[in-house]
Amino acid sequence: PPLFVRGTLVHTPVRGEVELLPDQLVAVDEAGTITAVVPGSQEAACLAAHAGRPEDVLRLEANQFLLPGFCDTHIHASQYSYAGTATDTPLMAWLTKYTFPTEARFAADPSFARRVYSRLICRMVACGTTTALFFATLHLEPCQLLADLLEEAGMRAFVGKARLRGGVSMDRHGGPDLYVESTEQAAASAEAFIRYVRAKQLPRLEPALTPRFLPTCTPVLLRALGELAVRYDVAVQSHIRESYDEVEFVGQLEEAGQGASEAEMFDAAGLLTSKASCCSAVFAHGVLLSDAEVALMAARGSAVAHCPLSNAFFADVVLPVAQLLRRGLKVGLGTDVAGGYDISMLGAQRAAVVASRALPLALRLQQEGDPDSLSWRDALWLATVGGARALGLDRVGTLAPGQQFDALLVDGGCGAAYDLFPQSSPLEQVEKFLCCGDDRHIVQVWVQGRPI
Ligand SMILES: [Zn+2]
Repeated sequence: PPLFVRGTLVHTPVRGEVELLPDQLVAVDEAGTITAVVPGSQEAACLAAHAGRPEDVLRLEANQFLLPGFCDTHIHASQYSYAGTATDTPLMAWLTKYTFPTEARFAADPSFARRVYSRLICRMVACGTTTALFFATLHLEPCQLLADLLEEAGMRAFVGKARLRGGVSMDRHGGPDLYVESTEQAAASAEAFIRYVRAKQLPRLEPALTPRFLPTCTPVLLRALGELAVRYDVAVQSHIRESYDEVEFVGQLEEAGQGASEAEMFDAAGLLTSKASCCSAVFAHGVLLSDAEVALMAARGSAVAHCPLSNAFFADVVLPVAQLLRRGLKVGLGTDVAGGYDISMLGAQRAAVVASRALPLALRLQQEGDPDSLSWRDALWLATVGGARALGLDRVGTLAPGQQFDALLVDGGCGAAYDLFPQSSPLEQVEKFLCCGDDRHIVQVWVQGRPI
């Protein structure tokens, strides 16, 4: 049946301007399309025109409002299992230690894959994400499972099978050689995945070609994917210029010897695309893009997924978002779970604002050398011991003998704000709580030994 909602609407048709429309009636047809937005005073006429009755109208209360659903332009579905852990490991080491082994497990253990993906989708929807561009894993079956679960959940999504190249580069840099496929396998399974998703005939679910990033994809594979992009008119996603260690790694690749930039390497393979019929090519991060690369990407109509929280950990650079938008580059926001620990796009919005406020400071410190950043360990110390000492309190701040029992009982497993998976160590569980938890995980509070 058609849907009618009456109340306050909030959206941002123009960047920098919020349009708040009080007391509107929104009519939505059976295909899910908004057919009318009229002042509430015209309810009777609107209902008559759209075959609705007053009792069909969802009436919002005084403090309620409608917002457009959030679009997460960059998230690694399989990494949700360790979101909020290992936040102090550099990118290339983090990939080798956490990402590749976990992603391999998705193929070996289908029940693990199902559990992680189900919880992920549930959590994203609860946080207001209605559309997402997903990185899945290397193996076909778990990617198909993710597509199936997204179909069931009704989310709008683009899903890509991530692919890596085998051989010298990864072996030389300590990557596990179990987690690769040959160029021929990679292209064939990419095509199989496109066909699998398209066979569902769901306009809201699309495949996306997903070369993980240049260090793991040979030029031959990139060209094969570029051909698939044209043949199937399919979206493309990857990472570009995301951190100093990634840029250094790419600089050592054989093909970089010919002097091409990362954007030019993607362009040469036909992967810097823009399409009318589906999403364009979306590249995560781009924090170290040169002016020429920005111009090339803007000319091709490709986009950057800005992932401010992840940038804070891996990039040590702040993306000048407003400047890129002025230069004609499309920019969206992404959580980059688990490079960013927060699954919520509210978190991404907050981080984007805070990061942009820090941009002038970051530029200054960059010129002076190491920015001397804090880890979650430092933050926990600041919130407890540092605070107590600042207040002149010597007997508060730790749980050592002689200290006052001012304490929290934390339930990491209650499932309120985040999910736990079996592979988390006790210390990682603490980190997860500090990154992703909230008041619902704090079940008891004591001051001086008394519950309060
Ligand atoms: Zn990423």
